[in-house]
Amino acid sequence: MDVAIMGAGISGLSCAITLEKHGIKPIVFEKRNRVGDRFINGEATFSILNRPIKDGLKYIKENYDISLTPTDMIRKLVFHSKNEVGSIDGPMGYVNIRGRHENSYECQLEKQLQTKINFNSTYDYEQLCKEFEYVILATGDGAYSTNLGNYKCDLTSTIKGVTIEGEFLTSIAHSWFNYDVIPKGYGWLIPFSEKEANLVIAYPDYPNNIKLDLNTMWETFYNMACKDLDQNFRITDNFEITKYMIGICNNSIIDNTYFIGNCFGTISPGLGFGQFASILTGVYSAYDICNLDKYDELAKPLFENYNNSLVLRRFLENLNDDNIDLIVKNLDNKFLDGLINKVISNKSHLEILNTLTPTMKLWNNYKKS
Ligand SMILES: Cc1cc2nc3c(=O)[nH]c(=O)nc-3n(C[C@H](O)[C@H](O)[C@H](O)COP(=O)(O)OP(=O)(O)OC[C@H]3O[C@@H](n4cnc5c(N)ncnc54)[C@H](O)[C@@H]3O)c2cc1C
Repeated sequence: MDVAIMGAGISGLSCAITLEKHGIKPIVFEKRNRVGDRFINGEATFSILNRPIKDGLKYIKENYDISLTPTDMIRKLVFHSKNEVGSIDGPMGYVNIRGRHENSYECQLEKQLQTKINFNSTYDYEQLCKEFEYVILATGDGAYSTNLGNYKCDLTSTIKGVTIEGEFLTSIAHSWFNYDVIPKGYGWLIPFSEKEANLVIAYPDYPNNIKLDLNTMWETFYNMACKDLDQNFRITDNFEITKYMIGICNNSIIDNTYFIGNCFGTISPGLGFGQFASILTGVYSAYDICNLDKYDELAKPLFENYNNSLVLRRFLENLNDDNIDLIVKNLDNKFLDGLINKVISNKSHLEILNTLTPTMKLWNNYKKS
């Protein structure tokens, strides 16, 4: 059976590994000259966002025999709002490395693959369609899906980040929700060693936001983060991404083409997490090709999760700094603290996003009216 995988990122490699495990040798095409050929960055996965699955890494190991080693478990997530600081205690997920680093998730996946990857590929989708029985689109954005009329883009974002040197605990991540500084967006710090971390901001490209000067916003955020963490970081690398697409495909398969990873729409619009769902779409598409299961059936919870996360995004956008201050302040409230930590923990099975979606919808409708 001839299967072409376009893109050797986390979804494409997960698909290739799964196909191999079931006796199919795919041909993987990667346009860059190595796996993870981009800036090194720290990313995170939070169990709470993947319910009913409790521990994503354990789940993919036990169910699909894919092993990934994170940098650390997240044991504390600190929220900084305009006037408050609060935190949630874990364990609640993992921090991991991406990009041009030997321990990045894509490099770890490459090691689990026997098939050689065809680097520096110039093949386009149309050529692959002619030559292969199945084509897996795993190029990491919604562009191809859009061209094929199979993508609903809900928003695009601007992302700017840096690698910093400082002193970090790899089990502690930070986030900033301060709409005065980053309107309708957020910032985060994810360490990928005790000496290095990423500091990033992301915000939606709404008309009022695109008028803003990114560099001024960045400077304000950067100074705020240095002050909040009481450190003078040293910047060693930086990146900027414009018009990062957040949306979802209409169909997970069209004819002989499978849409996986960001080509499927795995980025959650609420908080921008996409790694875990990207791995799942890789595995699910392979299962379909191997006649072990149906991709469109397996993907149903991912569509639902996306839609719930879109409600979360609108909910967050409808808050103001006072509302956010109130929420953040209460994270450390004596009575709520234990309850919140329990719900967020890896051990909880409560599907919080699903549970809260109707209430968030009500709030969103109230704000619209
Ligand atoms: C700054 C940033 C921070 C993020 N943080 C988080 C986070 O903390 N947690 C989280 O869960 N998610 C996060 N995400 C989202 C997550 O990284 C993505 O959802 C995930 O990487 C998507 O996987 P993928 O396989 O679709 O794409 P990728 O892993 O990006 O792989 C796509 C591959 O396709 C290749 N390619 C592209 N075009 C072609 C072509 N024409 N031919 C052949 N190959 C091609 C690329 O070179 C690349 O190797 C973040 C994203 C960004 C941008």
